[in-house]
Amino acid sequence: ELLSFGPRMMENAARMGDKPCVIDETTTVTWAEFGDKVARVVGRLKAMGIGPGSMVASLAENSAANVIMYAGVVASGACMVPLPFSATEAALVKMRSDCGASLLFTTQMYRDTADKLGAEQIVDLAELDAWIGDAPAVEPEAVPLNDLFDMIYSSGTTGTPKGIVHDHLFRSRQFSRTSAYGLDENGVLMMSTPLYSNTTLVAILACLVRGATVVSMAKFKTVPFLELSEKHRATHAMLVPVQYMRLMDEPRFDEFDLSAYQCKMSTSAPLPGIVIERCMARWPGNIMEFYGMTEGGPATVLDCAAHPDKWDTVGQPQPGADMRVIDEDGNELPYGSYGEVVGRSGSMMPGYHNNPDKTREATWVSPEGEHFVRTGDMGRFDEDGFLHLLDRKKDMIISGGFNIYAADLEAVLRKHPDVADVAVIAIPSRDWGETPLGLVVPRHTEADAEAIRSWANDQLGKTQRLSAVEFRDDLPRSEIGKILKRELREPYWEGSA
Ligand code: ATP
Ligand code: MG
Repeated sequence: ELLSFGPRMMENAARMGDKPCVIDETTTVTWAEFGDKVARVVGRLKAMGIGPGSMVASLAENSAANVIMYAGVVASGACMVPLPFSATEAALVKMRSDCGASLLFTTQMYRDTADKLGAEQIVDLAELDAWIGDAPAVEPEAVPLNDLFDMIYSSGTTGTPKGIVHDHLFRSRQFSRTSAYGLDENGVLMMSTPLYSNTTLVAILACLVRGATVVSMAKFKTVPFLELSEKHRATHAMLVPVQYMRLMDEPRFDEFDLSAYQCKMSTSAPLPGIVIERCMARWPGNIMEFYGMTEGGPATVLDCAAHPDKWDTVGQPQPGADMRVIDEDGNELPYGSYGEVVGRSGSMMPGYHNNPDKTREATWVSPEGEHFVRTGDMGRFDEDGFLHLLDRKKDMIISGGFNIYAADLEAVLRKHPDVADVAVIAIPSRDWGETPLGLVVPRHTEADAEAIRSWANDQLGKTQRLSAVEFRDDLPRSEIGKILKRELREPYWEGSA
């Protein structure tokens, strides 16, 4: 079932009428209002000569207007490019010129930066209605499946962000998968991660094609998240692991009525088994953990309620995903071996924008000549077909010729009662080349780093032992909650090759 985004939204608008479509801090937009506004955004863009083949950018926090604008731009046939506001100004300048968008939507919060990006026309989302003006409502048409839907710049966790293009076919295939998680027209989804990340978009676009309700938060905070969940009887939430951790550490968590929840989704970074355990015990409804990339291709899902013995895995390949494991030289390894994960599926990017070299690097061609996406992630499928994910290849620690996976060491450290958060990184060692260092955020001031280190080392293999544990007040994370290991490693490697 390939859904056509624009026409499908308009059908929902006609059917849902007064039901809320998007709720934010200041307004509730009904489905009828949403349909009208989307059609008039399309009319306004058309009058400006923007439609199929155009790129339109945004630099804005989450809001109802942001969702309306996104939907309108895509419905017009143009390609939406939501710029990551967490990036530096220099990086944003490059992205704007790389995508070539002349129209840029922004908000007061990002106006100064927006003014410096070289766009011809800038529209403040607070004035979206005035900008639409008396534009006629233009009924969105079905868009050819190979036309661009949106372009997302990769998180840049491991290097320079790459423009990842998604066509209508990519998104349509994704919509048909999300129907499996009960996100239908009775769904109420909490959105608290930024709209420029694919994690957020997968969930939000699904709501728009299914006729559900989106509750938008511009900034995630635990108590307001819980209050809004209770108030709107949220059924679904798309959250990243650090948000689950913060919610479980929120002393007021149990005061709220969260009984309407059916399913929380998690993606973008490892969701530790111990965090799943805490959430499943205190928070009604299931948790689905997804593993995937903005690039598409490999995709697994873990149904936490159905597989309580697999909480340390990222689940099984989703229908239609073909996943394999390869070695250093690109040879396919027998099932069950450790290696780099590669995958292909119906939802796969055509390539990076303006970057054939990176596209080639990210492609693995199977002996049958099929193109797979290389994930850069190390993992292994177990005998039941569940994927155990270890580190990103770039984060792996190679000590005295042995590969050490930080994920194994982090899982042990996380079980210590004094450990609130942890990251294990490679630091230089004269004897071993590299050696693992544990960076720990302690739960209280009495915690003892040396005691934690020896407690963990007692449970680790001889070649895995931590050289030291250091305390930190906090760990650096990207806007979407990924620990920035590159940043953590840097000071230890200064001056070395
Ligand atoms: P860049 O490619 O610019 O370095 P990025 O890889 O972080 O950034 P994304 O496409 O947002 O960009 O993230 C995909 C990556 O996130 C995966 O390759 C994997 O490392 C990690 N990831 C996603 N889901 C999970 C998960 N459930 N468990 C562990 N890691 C995950
Ligand atoms: Mg990546």
